[in-house]
Amino acid sequence: MAKPAGPICNLNCSYCYFLAKESLYPGDRFRMPDDVLEAYIRQVIEGQDAPDVTIAWQGGEPTLMGVDFFRRALALAEEHRRPGQRLHHTIQTNGTLLTDEWCDLFARHGFLVGISIDGPAHLHDRYRVDKKGEPTFERVMRGVELLKRHGVELNVLCTVNAANQHHPLDVYRFFRDDLGVEFVQFIPVVETTIPATPAAPAGADPHLGRGAGETLPGIVVTDRSVDPEAWGEFLVAVFDEWLRHDVGRVFVQMFDAALASWLDVPGGLCIFAETCGDAVVVEHNGDMYSCDHFVDPEHRLGNITQTHLVELLASPPQRAFGAAKRDSLPRYCLECPVLFACHGECPKNRFTSTPDGEPGLNYLCAGYRRFFTHVDGPMRLMADLVRRGRPADEVAAVLTGAPRNEACPCGSGRKAKHCHAR
Ligand code: SF4
Ligand code: SF4
Repeated sequence: MAKPAGPICNLNCSYCYFLAKESLYPGDRFRMPDDVLEAYIRQVIEGQDAPDVTIAWQGGEPTLMGVDFFRRALALAEEHRRPGQRLHHTIQTNGTLLTDEWCDLFARHGFLVGISIDGPAHLHDRYRVDKKGEPTFERVMRGVELLKRHGVELNVLCTVNAANQHHPLDVYRFFRDDLGVEFVQFIPVVETTIPATPAAPAGADPHLGRGAGETLPGIVVTDRSVDPEAWGEFLVAVFDEWLRHDVGRVFVQMFDAALASWLDVPGGLCIFAETCGDAVVVEHNGDMYSCDHFVDPEHRLGNITQTHLVELLASPPQRAFGAAKRDSLPRYCLECPVLFACHGECPKNRFTSTPDGEPGLNYLCAGYRRFFTHVDGPMRLMADLVRRGRPADEVAAVLTGAPRNEACPCGSGRKAKHCHAR
């Protein structure tokens, strides 16, 4: 994905990790020039063998570039599209700057628009504020309404943080019932004072392992961050609600990715992949970095105006970055029963130690163990249905139709009448 306005944003969300990246390019205007735009579009299209090509825009706030920038991008994409290729466009936005003109463009070109919103107003406005510290919920909702009026396909990107972590159903039902969205992504906020690196946690001394779950020396997690146990309970609560009512109707990215793991197919969510390396980011000036979470001098791969994006993607440093995710797992993960689904999650969060003191355990481990263990039974059922060519949403009927006095097929260990057949 590309960041045409770099980290620049019209808002000032308290936990945003992009805003600090301005210091990487002192004095820069943070606007992607036309030669970089052309190189990005052309190289993304050239780099694809598959008929479907996705062109993705991120920020900061990409709409700060103005509508005409995206008109030029669309024209370039058409110019470089090869016969038989289908183009898909996605953009992630806070929604506050959207107008009829934007939404008309998105609708005509089939954009999938990701809206950043953290739940109903009292939860969203806790951290999603503007430069004056003012709440933004009303402005985001104005954008959502405009998108819906124009029939634009949208998904919701919700960060889970200290403010909303104990309100999973308020958050999920707000998206499902009030916003009427079908695609939901949850992202845990894990904010540290010193970033970790994928190869070795920053500040980590392998001889200084601490108690289970304690952060390693030099790393402090901010109080806005999600609590690991709360993260697990959040996912479990949303999953149970989704399983009862919404399978096949609402798509929660994390649950889709989990089902892929139970089906033993790639899930399309990098945090749960065995290795990293394919989620590169192109900055406004053409600099390409290993990952959006590692936009720093050490992870700068090169510049796409000098070296083709595909060459940078396949370069030894980037392949080493990707393999480090798998190769740096602590023994505790290697012996974990849900490793096949979790894969130690994102390396940026691996800054705690295992129960026997080995560094490199993911801060969110407790949450993921809880979640993946909880979903094992239903995931097995859904995977079985899918393998037999049946829709996964039949799972609700299987669960509620189970003989009432026998063990619930979800694997909870309870009788069905006390579980899903209740
Ligand atoms: S570092 Fe984290 S966000 Fe980046 S590609 Fe790896 S898993 Fe994904
Ligand atoms: S649940 Fe914990 S131990 Fe298991 S793979 Fe994930 S981070 Fe490692």
